[in-house]
Amino acid sequence: MQLYNSLGQTRQEFVPYSDKIVNMYTCGPTVYHYAHIGNLRTYIMEDVLEKYLRFSGYNVNRVMNITDVGHLSSDADTGEDKMLAGAKREHKGVLEIARFYTDAFFSDCAKLNIKRPDVVEPATNCIDEFIHMISVLLEKGYAYVAGGNVYFDTSKLDNYYVFGNMNEDDLAVGVRDSVEEDVNKRNKTDFVLWFTKSKFEDQELKWESPWGLGYPGWHIECSSISYKHNGEYLDIHCGGIDNAFPHHTNEIAQSESFIGHKWCKYWFHVLHLNDARGKMSKSKGGFLTVSLLESKGYDPLVYRMFCLQSHYRKPLTFTYESLDNTAKAYEKLISRIAGITPDGETDMAKAEELIGKFKEALDNDLNTALGLTALYDVLKADVNGATKLYVIGELDRVLSLNLIREKQESEPQADDNLTAEIEALIQKRTEARAAKDWATADAIRDKLKEMNVTVKDSKDGITWEFNK
Ligand code: AMP
Ligand code: ZN
Repeated sequence: MQLYNSLGQTRQEFVPYSDKIVNMYTCGPTVYHYAHIGNLRTYIMEDVLEKYLRFSGYNVNRVMNITDVGHLSSDADTGEDKMLAGAKREHKGVLEIARFYTDAFFSDCAKLNIKRPDVVEPATNCIDEFIHMISVLLEKGYAYVAGGNVYFDTSKLDNYYVFGNMNEDDLAVGVRDSVEEDVNKRNKTDFVLWFTKSKFEDQELKWESPWGLGYPGWHIECSSISYKHNGEYLDIHCGGIDNAFPHHTNEIAQSESFIGHKWCKYWFHVLHLNDARGKMSKSKGGFLTVSLLESKGYDPLVYRMFCLQSHYRKPLTFTYESLDNTAKAYEKLISRIAGITPDGETDMAKAEELIGKFKEALDNDLNTALGLTALYDVLKADVNGATKLYVIGELDRVLSLNLIREKQESEPQADDNLTAEIEALIQKRTEARAAKDWATADAIRDKLKEMNVTVKDSKDGITWEFNK
């Protein structure tokens, strides 16, 4: 499989450290508000990546943190903890809103058929691990204490900007947002590992540490949680492109200094979902959620398909007009699949050929748009129904669009014999009524009811349908 790697900025053949397991880490949500559909674009594409790796025969150990402390409103270690801001907004405790929005996040994920990672770990569960990692970084001389806080010393690294010349906007975030420069920092790019002193004193959650009562920085949580559950060698780290700098850059600085060797091989970044106002973001407000789309009548899987229709490395602009187009395409796709009769034996040779086209698309830097084309090709293919349905079922292990519905979900379809039986009964009932044989007419009515059939008399004659 060829994947674009932000580390090196090239497409590379995916070769994990070990052929037994792929260790995958995902930056989880900051749970101070609902996830917006931009965040969920990233999680949908990461879900496709995970499922495609499994589909390709790998075992995957996927780990995700839940950011419930330490993510400040500015990535440059200034501003307020987002969790605290959320708690104030709702007049609740930090842990209470963390629990609420974590549940809301997984409920949105379930609606979008995003699989829950194998390990999900809230940052507040791992304070001891953060303290351990920070202590080692201090011992090794990669960190220093200044003004009560612990900082990572980026001047100790040969190459701090590991992702090279990224997009100006993405690269400038930390520096640009730094309205109040932190005078404790020895270098502009240094970042906080542990806060004990900061300009906001009402931080709700604080823990004892060798450096005083305080709380962890945001970056240390991902390095520590990945180390805890993925070990020393990480194959793929995922996130939205805004996380590449400074968050992922800082994770690499910490993890490699702590472990003492190269840490993560592949960096998978999903480009942003934008709307008319630019990048969709929680802090800007006015963002779109899965529940909002549902309240407007959209099946959440229409949004999943909308994301699959474009490549994860291209920015995607959301408009209702394009979502409507996807909704129509999705409905048509489902009904075409529902119309396939599972006749014949599955032709495995032909099935493999069709699946091969899908693999070609996804092996090509996870090109889901071409993957969907491969799905449409199955519908057109000159193979029997059983083969088509088998292939569609296989593709759906990755696409997760609920392509094959349970029969009762779609309109019950009468086969020819059943139709003939129902029509004969209706005919008999009409004759019985004409003959004023009410007992027979009622018995037939009951029988039809048992068969889940409603008969309608109208000026155009008698019609019937199955009850929904
Ligand atoms: P957060 O909850 O802010 O920590 O973000 C959760 C994930 O969503 C991270 O991987 C972000 O990089 C990603 N993300 C944030 N905004 C967007 C967006 N507009 N489009 C795609 N991904 C995003
Ligand atoms: Zn992270």
